[in-house]
Amino acid sequence: MIAFPRLKMSKFRFSAKNNEGSTFMLRSESEDKKLIQTMLCESRTRLQSILDNEPECVKLVSIDGILLEMNQAGLAMVEAKCLEEVMGKFVIDLIHPEDRAAFQEFHQLVSEGKTGKLQFRILGLGGGLRWMETHSLPWRNFYGDIVGVLSITRNLTESKQIEQALMESEERYRQLVELCPNGIFIECEGKFVFVNRAAANIFGAANEAALIGKPILDFVHPDYREIVLELLRQIREEKKEAPLLEEKLLQLNGTVIDVEIAAIPFNYEGKPAAQVVIRDISERQAALRDRKRAEEQLRYYAFYDPLTGLPNRALFLEQLEKLIDVQQKDTGVEAKYSIANFPSPSPQFAVLFLDLNRFQIVKYSLGHQLADELIIATAKRLQTCLRSTDFVALVGLDEFAIILSPLSEKQEAIDIANCIYQTLQLPFKLDGREVYVTASIGIALSAIGYDRPEDFLQAADTAMHTCKRIKQAPYAVFEPEWHVGALKLLELETDLRQAIQRRDLQVYYQPIVSLKSGRISGFEALVRWEHPTRGFVPPSEFIPLAEETGLIGEIDRFVLREACRQMGFWQRAFLAEVPLTLSVNLSGFQLSQLALVEQIDQVLGETGIQRSTLKLEITESKLSGNMVSEKTMLDRLKKLGIQLAIDDFGTGYSSLARLHQLPIDTLKIDRSFVTNLGVDSESLEIVRTIITLAHSLEMDAIAEGVETPQQLAQLQALQCEYGQGYFFSKPIASETAWALLNRFHLP
Ligand code: C2E
Ligand code: MG
Ligand code: MG
Repeated sequence: MIAFPRLKMSKFRFSAKNNEGSTFMLRSESEDKKLIQTMLCESRTRLQSILDNEPECVKLVSIDGILLEMNQAGLAMVEAKCLEEVMGKFVIDLIHPEDRAAFQEFHQLVSEGKTGKLQFRILGLGGGLRWMETHSLPWRNFYGDIVGVLSITRNLTESKQIEQALMESEERYRQLVELCPNGIFIECEGKFVFVNRAAANIFGAANEAALIGKPILDFVHPDYREIVLELLRQIREEKKEAPLLEEKLLQLNGTVIDVEIAAIPFNYEGKPAAQVVIRDISERQAALRDRKRAEEQLRYYAFYDPLTGLPNRALFLEQLEKLIDVQQKDTGVEAKYSIANFPSPSPQFAVLFLDLNRFQIVKYSLGHQLADELIIATAKRLQTCLRSTDFVALVGLDEFAIILSPLSEKQEAIDIANCIYQTLQLPFKLDGREVYVTASIGIALSAIGYDRPEDFLQAADTAMHTCKRIKQAPYAVFEPEWHVGALKLLELETDLRQAIQRRDLQVYYQPIVSLKSGRISGFEALVRWEHPTRGFVPPSEFIPLAEETGLIGEIDRFVLREACRQMGFWQRAFLAEVPLTLSVNLSGFQLSQLALVEQIDQVLGETGIQRSTLKLEITESKLSGNMVSEKTMLDRLKKLGIQLAIDDFGTGYSSLARLHQLPIDTLKIDRSFVTNLGVDSESLEIVRTIITLAHSLEMDAIAEGVETPQQLAQLQALQCEYGQGYFFSKPIASETAWALLNRFHLP
C-alpha cells in the first residue's frame, strides 16, 4: 500500500506531516503551489511505476472510446513499444472485428455506470491475436461525473488455448468412441450410464438410449455373472484394470453372443465406475468352431478308414509308438530300481498282421461292393476275438494290423491269432451267397525290442508272408533273423521287375509223352529266370512273389506269347504228322482279369497256333472257390476253342460236384502222388481214383513227375493217357526241344 503525505489545508498557509510524523511549514503561496505540483508529479510517477509493474493490463479509455492511459503490461499485450503509439487512438481498433460489437456494448454499459466482465480477442499492432478478459468500472472525475472507463484486463490466451485443446481432444475422443467398431460403455453403480453405437448394436438395442439405466448383469450370461461381478468390484475398489477376457453376453432378445472384454477404472460424476470395451467375437468363435470341426474331419480322414471306420496305418503307428515309449520308460525304471519295488512287470505287447488270402480273387469275382462288405464283416469278426484294450486298424486293402496289449506271454498272442483264424474260416454271407476266406497272420512280439513302430509292423508283415509261404499254421511268429530274408525278398522283387523289363526271362519246354505210343504229344511251357549274379532262380521262389506283387500277369502274358509263337512254328513243321499240344500255366489270379479272354484271343490270332492245341493249366489250389464267377470265366476261355487243365490235382479242394460243372479237359495228377506210387498204397489209390474220375468226367489225365520206369508201368496199367517227368525229359530250351522233336517225334 502506497501512503501519500497527508495535507492539512489552512486559508493562507498549511503545515504538512510526513510519514515519519515530522512537520514542516510552507513559506509562500507560490512556493506552496510549486510544492504541490512537485508532489503531484512524484505521486504520478509512483503511480505510473506501480501500474507498470502490474502484470495485468490497466487502461483508461474515454467515454468516446479513446485510449487515455495504459500500463506497460497493456502495451506489451497490444504489441506497442511506447504509450504514444496507442494513446489518443480509438481502442476499438485493437479489438478483433468479430468481438467489436460486444465490446462496444460493454463499453457503453460501463460508461453508463455499470461494472462488469467481458471476454474478447484483441489484435495487436503486430497482428498477434490474444484472448482477454477485462474487468471494467466507470472512471469518475473530481465532481463524480463519469469521464471514462477504467479496465484491468487479463491475458487469457494461454488458458484459452488449453481450453481449446481440451475441447478439441474431447471432441476427438467423442468422435472416436462414436465411430469405434468396438462396443464401449460406462458402467456406474451396476448400470449403463454411457453406451456407444457399436455397443448398442452388439447388445441388439435399437439405439444407445435404449440401454441407459439398464442393469449390466441383465446382459451377462448366467455362467459368467459371478466373474463379471468380481471384475467390476476389482475395478471399482482396487482400481485394477481388467485383462482381456472372453465371455458370453446376452442380447436384448436373449441371444447368446461371444465377446472379448476389457475394462478400466473410470470416474463418472465423482463416482467410481468402469469404462468397458467389448468386441463381438461370435463370428470368430463360429469360425473357430468350424475350423475345429474341419480339423476333426481332416483328422478323421487322415487317421481313419472311411469304409470300416477303423483307424488307418498312420494312427496305428502313432498308437504303437506311444506303447513303445511307455515300454521303454518302464524298462528304464525297472533297470534303475529293483524288481521287488514293482510287483507288476512292465506289460508286453504283440503286433499282429493279418492278410486275407485270395482277397483279390474274391474282389474281382464278386465285385468291389461285396469285397468292401467282406472287409467290413471281417473287421467286425476280428473284434469278437479281441479285448477292449487291443487296437485294430486297416493298414492295406485287405490287411489288418492289431496291437495286443497288455500281454502276459507269447501263448496269449497265439491263442488270439488262432481265434481270429477260426472265426474268419466260417462262411461270410454276402448278397445271399456264402463266401469263404482264410487269413494269414504274422505275429511280432514286443520282446524283439525294436524302437520304431514301422519296424514292428514290418516284422509282423514279414511273419505274415512267411505264414503264407509255409502254409503250416494259421500264424507265424516273427524271428529277428527273418529280417534278412525279408530284405532278400525285396531285392528279388526289384530284380524280377528289371528282368521282366529287360526280357531276361526265357521259356523252357518239358515234353508231355503219350503213355500209349511213347511219342511226344506236346510240351508244357515253363518260365525260366537266369539272374545275372544269382544264376538260375527256380519258379517256386519267384512265382509266389510274382503272384503277391501282381507281376504274375506280365510273366504269364510273356510266356503265353513266346510259347505260342514257338509252338506255331513247330506245328507248322509237324502238323502233317501229329498235332502237338502246348500247355501254358495260368495263375489263378489271372482268372479275375476281365481282359484275359481278349488277350489270349489276340495271342492266338497273332501266332497262328491251332486253337484246340493250347491247353491252359490252372492250379487247383489257386481256384477261388467262387463257383459262379469261375465257371463264367472258364466257359468264356473254353469258347475260344482252347483246352483247360487242372494242375496239381489232388492238392486243392475241388469237389466232385463242382468239377463236373467246369469245362475242364484234363486233370494233371500232382507229382507228390506219382512220386509215391511205388512207396505207399495210399498214393496208388489216389492216382487210381483221379484217373477214374477224369475218365468218368470225360477228361484225360496227365501224370506229373514221372521219374522211374516203375512209375511209368503203373501209370500205363492205370490207363493214364499222358506222362511228364524227368524220366522222359527235364524242361529244356527251345532248340533242344526242336532237336528232340526231330529225333523222336517223327514217325
Ligand atoms: P507245374 O505247372 O506243376 O510244372 C511242373 C513242375 O514240375 C515244373 O517245375 C517241372 O520242372 C517240374 N517237374 C516236371 N517233371 C518233374 C520230375 O520228374 N521231377 C521233379 N522233381 N520235378 C518235375 P518248375 O518249372 O520249377 O515249375 C514249378 C511251378 O511253377 C509250376 O508247376 C507252375 O506252377 C509254376 N510255373 C512255372 N512256369 C510258370 C509260368 O509261366 N506261369 C505260371 N503262372 N506258373 C508257372
Ligand atoms: Mg503246370
Ligand atoms: Mg503241376
